[in-house]
Amino acid sequence: MATKHDWTKEEILEIYNKPFMELLYEAATIHREHHDPNTVQVSTLLSIKTGGCPEDCGYCPQAARYHTDLEGNDLMSVNQVKAQALRAKASGSSRVCMGAAWRNVKDGEEFDNVLEMVRTINKLDMEVCCTLGMLTENQAERLAEAGLYAYNHNLDSSEEYYKEVISTRGYQDRLDTIGNVRKTNVTVCSGGIIGMGESEADRAGMLVALSTLNPQPESVPINALVPVEGTPLEEQAPVPIWEMIRMVATTRIVMPETQVRLSAGRTQMSREGQAMCFFAGANSIFAGDKLLTTPNPDVNEDMEMFKMLGLNPQKAFEKKSQPESIDAENSQYQSKGEKPKWSRPGHKIERNLDAQQKTKAKA
Ligand code: SF4
Repeated sequence: MATKHDWTKEEILEIYNKPFMELLYEAATIHREHHDPNTVQVSTLLSIKTGGCPEDCGYCPQAARYHTDLEGNDLMSVNQVKAQALRAKASGSSRVCMGAAWRNVKDGEEFDNVLEMVRTINKLDMEVCCTLGMLTENQAERLAEAGLYAYNHNLDSSEEYYKEVISTRGYQDRLDTIGNVRKTNVTVCSGGIIGMGESEADRAGMLVALSTLNPQPESVPINALVPVEGTPLEEQAPVPIWEMIRMVATTRIVMPETQVRLSAGRTQMSREGQAMCFFAGANSIFAGDKLLTTPNPDVNEDMEMFKMLGLNPQKAFEKKSQPESIDAENSQYQSKGEKPKWSRPGHKIERNLDAQQKTKAKA
């Protein structure tokens, strides 16, 4: 079935509020149609530049204006990043996501260093993702040339609720950055956070904004707020596990091809709760005892959980991103006897060869 791109808030709310067992069954069925239910990607999130951010995201201890216990650091060196990536690979990660607490990317030495980090991790045969703030089209192209696999830029919440949490940049700024990434062959990672005081309608609104993008993001992280002392959201109550499962299941139903990432907040979840999230369609976790700056389960604990549940870590570049939309576009070029335009870093050789062989066979 073709992916639906015209979800409304009402339709999504209806899904979110289905009787729990029905919701779970529907999400698990869709998940099995599009993904291997026993495979979950393990990713490592690396804070390459911590703290001192000029933005005012209400949940974030890295915002310079909030008084938290966070220790900031300048941009890491390429060698430090390489060492951490090798360690992550050895413990089962197939993807490294590098985060820098910047409002936007500035051309210059630091960005050149980040490009070198991307090249370095790419050579390790790992998927490499960056989250560096707002990005111009030219910067997105330079990251693509360096071999970036994915760019993360979260929408955080619905457009309506976003204003309650962030005032220093608008929702449209975020969509523009996603649009700039989309013009390259870098895949899009964009999701949000629940538990910031938003309503169910806001959660549905965020999923409308993501699912109506065409193509839909290849990756959607769903975070449960981890309230940090000193931030405006420090008093928020923890997200009940049932709401997290409902959010994951609804995301899976409205974005069937997407890699749904069970992200921040896992330390508050039991293994049973996480298992239900995997059943409902989550197929990625972040490993390592820190998620940028907030606590995360130990990697050994995660591997024990994988063993108990019979889950296998996904290999790098295993998941074909948005096969429908890519294949549809490629076929237009192939039918004219031209080389396919779209490829994805990592499986471009395989995909291009494949397509070229088919074109030759036709000729
Ligand atoms: S979430 Fe990102 S942009 Fe917002 S304050 Fe934190 S580091 Fe800065």
